[in-house]
Amino acid sequence: MIVDYHMHLRAPDESIDHTVEAAERFVAVAAERGVDEIGFTEHVYYFEQTRHLWSMPYHLERCVYDIEPYVGAVLEAKRRGHPIKLGIEVDYEPGREEETADALAPYPWDYVLGSIHFLDGLGIDAVPSLVDSVGPEAAWSRYYETLASAARSGLFDSLAHPDLIKFHGEEIDWGDFVCVEGGEVVRQIAAGEESTVDFWVEGFDAAVENLGETGDLGDGEGRNSGFSEC
Ligand SMILES: [Zn+2]
Ligand SMILES: [Zn+2]
Repeated sequence: MIVDYHMHLRAPDESIDHTVEAAERFVAVAAERGVDEIGFTEHVYYFEQTRHLWSMPYHLERCVYDIEPYVGAVLEAKRRGHPIKLGIEVDYEPGREEETADALAPYPWDYVLGSIHFLDGLGIDAVPSLVDSVGPEAAWSRYYETLASAARSGLFDSLAHPDLIKFHGEEIDWGDFVCVEGGEVVRQIAAGEESTVDFWVEGFDAAVENLGETGDLGDGEGRNSGFSEC
């Protein structure tokens, strides 16, 4: 069975389109491409119901949509019998685990993806970037330590794009950083040695090997390579 459980519900012009019609467009393309089931995972920071979680302008500027049409559109598409799951992509905010859980609680998610796009006010795959600020090795450690905390938090069913830090640029040989402790913790969690969390992996070939892979119909480009969302 082929699935893609990381998608952002958009119109053809990439604008937000939280409608049943948009969901059905994705279903049609998935069917054309031989994908059996898809899951929508809108960024949680687009929803005004989560505004209290955010402090960065990047999030606050986008936090203007009502969550109800999104949830309603995906549930209606499911009700019509389409092979769809209702998910959400949630930025992990260390120290705000309880508020995050409370914000998610009212809705019938099939699964919750955890992500780290920003740390310490700096972008992982956006500028100004954590890598530029503290250097690749410190950034790698900080990223994977926090990703391990996200896995331990119990908030998420899966962690999205755990290799996002590699999107900083091709000039860095990230292969030098595979042995950093944070990456090892994540590997242990993924392997079931420390905790239980499922990983969907998109091109994650450096720090964590042998976890499986997934394709992607949706996005996947880094923020610093054209502002596609991931
Ligand atoms: Zn993402
Ligand atoms: Zn995403």
